Parts: sequence; structure tokens; C-alpha cells
Amino acid sequence: MTESEIIAAIESEIHFRNPRKVSAYEIAFTCYNGSAHKNGDSHPSCHWNIQKHTYTCRVCGVGGGWTGLAKEVGMSLNGSGQRETARWNLFDRTGKYVATHVRVEPGRDGKLKDVYWKINDESGLRSRPLATRPLYGIHLLDKETPSRVFLVEGEKQQRP
Ligand SMILES: [Zn+2]
Repeated sequence: MTESEIIAAIESEIHFRNPRKVSAYEIAFTCYNGSAHKNGDSHPSCHWNIQKHTYTCRVCGVGGGWTGLAKEVGMSLNGSGQRETARWNLFDRTGKYVATHVRVEPGRDGKLKDVYWKINDESGLRSRPLATRPLYGIHLLDKETPSRVFLVEGEKQQRP
């Protein structure tokens, strides 16, 4: 990838991290160093300078130039291609951050995408029992909703 392609990819990555324009030259986005933030930096604190191609996080203090940011967000600078294209923070019933679901493209073995879990930017939920895994949007449920949740598998998973 050329420098301009990498910068374009960084800005595409920022697009999936709750971007917010904070000045003529700066965009705030969800920090990749989520473990240093409350709620995985759900209120974006990291700033990207679109002119200087530098970044700085005003909460956890990470920062530097575009090559550093490219590495930190998991982009390959050698052209092997897989990069993060989306991430979703998940919360528990009380709104406390529990995990992040990350999508990368392209996937391994010719697949369009791969998705995996991170907790505070470290990988893994594999050892966690299924019944304790995070649920999308559970923090949005009405407080009056009973606390038991039933998951129903999609048709694709049904057996005859
Ligand atoms: Zn930060």
C-alpha cells in the first residue's frame, strides 16, 4: 500500500469508530486503547488530524503519526490486506462495557470477512460459557423487561 492508500484506509477505519468532527482539521473517534478508558471509550477521545496525519488521545495519552496508528488499528503495512472494517461495543444490562465485536476484511481462506471478540482490545471470549456471552443491545431493554433472555437460532442452523 502507498502512503496515501494507508491514510485513506485509516480514515475509512475511523469512519467505523463513532467519528465526530471537532474542528476544521480534527476528527474524534473511539480510541483503539479501550482498556485505558471507561466503557471502552464509548465517548470518543482520540483525535485524528486530517492535515498532519497525526493522532492523539486526550484521555489515555497515546499518539503519534499515521504509521503508528495504522499498526495500532491492526492494518497491515506490507500489503497482506486484512484490516478492521467495523467494531461494535457491547454492554451489560446496566450499560457497563463488556466486550467488542470486531469485523475484519477480507476473511481467512477466501471468506469475505471474519469477526472476532475483544475485551478491552485483547482477544478472546472463547473460554467464556455461552450463557455468559454478551448480547447485542441488552442495555437498551426496558428496565421492566424480565431478566431471562431466550436465544433462538436462525433457520440456517435448524436440522430436519
Ligand atoms: Zn485513548
